[in-house]
Amino acid sequence: MNTTTQKKSNGNGASRALPARGVDWLHNPVFNKGTAFTGAERDALGLRGLLPPHVQTMDEQVRRVMDNFRSKSNDLERYIQIVGLQDRNETLFYRVVMENLEELMPIIYTPTVGKACQEFGHIFRRTRGFYISSEDRGQMESILQNWPTHDVKVIVVTDGERILGLGDLGASGMGIPIGKLSLYTACAGIHPTQCLPITIDVGTDNETLLKDPLYTGLRQKRIRGDAYDALIEEFMVAVEKQFPGVLVQFEDFGNSNAFRLLEKYRDRACTFNDDIQGTGSVALAGILSALRITGGKLRDQRVLFLGAGEAGIGIADNIVNVLVEEGLTPAEARKCVWFVDSKGLIVKGRGNLTEHKLHYAHDHAPCADLFSAVKSIKPTMLIGASGQAKTFTHEIITTMASLNERPVIFALSNPTSKAECTADEAYTWTDGRAVFASGSPFFPVNVNGRVHVPGQGNNAYIFPGVGLGIVCTGARRVTDSMFIVAARTLASLIRENELAEGRVYPSLQRIHEVSLAIAIAVAEEVYAKKLNTQPRPADLPGYIRSQMFKPEYPDYTKK
Ligand code: NAD
Repeated sequence: MNTTTQKKSNGNGASRALPARGVDWLHNPVFNKGTAFTGAERDALGLRGLLPPHVQTMDEQVRRVMDNFRSKSNDLERYIQIVGLQDRNETLFYRVVMENLEELMPIIYTPTVGKACQEFGHIFRRTRGFYISSEDRGQMESILQNWPTHDVKVIVVTDGERILGLGDLGASGMGIPIGKLSLYTACAGIHPTQCLPITIDVGTDNETLLKDPLYTGLRQKRIRGDAYDALIEEFMVAVEKQFPGVLVQFEDFGNSNAFRLLEKYRDRACTFNDDIQGTGSVALAGILSALRITGGKLRDQRVLFLGAGEAGIGIADNIVNVLVEEGLTPAEARKCVWFVDSKGLIVKGRGNLTEHKLHYAHDHAPCADLFSAVKSIKPTMLIGASGQAKTFTHEIITTMASLNERPVIFALSNPTSKAECTADEAYTWTDGRAVFASGSPFFPVNVNGRVHVPGQGNNAYIFPGVGLGIVCTGARRVTDSMFIVAARTLASLIRENELAEGRVYPSLQRIHEVSLAIAIAVAEEVYAKKLNTQPRPADLPGYIRSQMFKPEYPDYTKK
């Protein structure tokens, strides 16, 4: 059969030109079924002899992959194996990930993806995603045409300046957009061919990388200022032209650029910043769930943050937005929220505060460090988003326990090595009374015979569902209200038995149900704000469900 000019979907949704020859089917990750190509397909596509004779079921393939995965000696090896599968056979990759999400999430995303980014140039095997560098200035539009599909719906873009809590990893940050987009598909069923990971390489200030002969990025210091802004502007114009209406998620930009770029583009393009808005949303959901455990009201909380960057400010802004929805003025709402940064408690009169910090500078005597701030503010909730490991010390956590019957302690910094405290410390030092969540996963902890299950405030609870709602409605813009709707939906889905275990997030096994519910709620918000470009379907849940990618092999002998 002549396949050169035909196009076919490899499941539901996106389509690509069919491979030309038998061997090309095996080397195309979108169409490859590996040992699962049937006898009829082997005849029709010219695959006879190119595969071992036994036709495997997908279940057999999944078993082989997982046996292999579990036999690896460390997580980086597991990462290399599983990304290798993604490069060979995307359908099988997503079947494996979806069926084993709790086991694979910490590999394809934090914490292991952080290690993979640090080692990126050393473990590089096959290119994935799209690289734009400062040398491409003036040519972005034509370069983007090299991407093989036009039907791109979601872009995740990074400039690699603040990868997780690991700092500037330059072009090695590519692991992050790749991982995030894998989660868009695995959690919410956005079609893999509609996802485009992009790294904008503007250089790096990381001397270790600049000296590393195997570093894959430009050997130059970061460009900044007007030249940087012009590059991002060209990028935003070019992606909108090439992929009209595409959702652009900014990821792991340094915080001086992240806030600026969000303000600059949020009213011009369909865009959001996951580190600010996604984190704000997932943490808000955790806070709302924690209140279901502690029995308090949000307006009565004193929330103290360690770290006033993208994550901390994003969470605080969401708390304020909810309180304003509940009837407080913004000024009253902000009084519930306090910040300690690297220079101590943020108070009025402290010099050199950025605008975002100024909002949260209250009348109060200065406190030089977190411990003195805890003693003085007496917070009900302590939230770490500082990227500084071990900063929630024994004396700080025991003080939180002496101030509160159920102290809420979230150590959100990633990866695990950067967490402000471990789950074990939070539970043990509070005699099991802490309501704890973290950014990276921790195992359950047994205190005096009772098992506490730490919540992972994983942005993957939020952004895939939000993205699905946006894609399905063709939303023109992304609003803060969509993230609040998403947070409320997530918090409402936690079951009583999950709360009883101390969880403030539902089990990851429920992620498809969660993402679908968030997508529906976000879609309703899009319609309410009249931001949709596509008409509302009669059966919204049914329509959204029908758009979700299912990792199943099609029969390529059927037209
Ligand atoms: P950021 O660089 O924007 O902000 C970090 C902040 O911490 C800055 O305000 C900095 O001044 C402050 N800081 C640095 N050292 C400090 C110290 N010794 N004491 C007090 N404050 C200090 O980074 P971000 O995007 O806000 O991320 C911070 C951390 O949160 C990272 O580790 C990141 O991985 C994590 N994070 C977690 C989630 C999640 O759990 N879902 C989401 C996003 C980010």
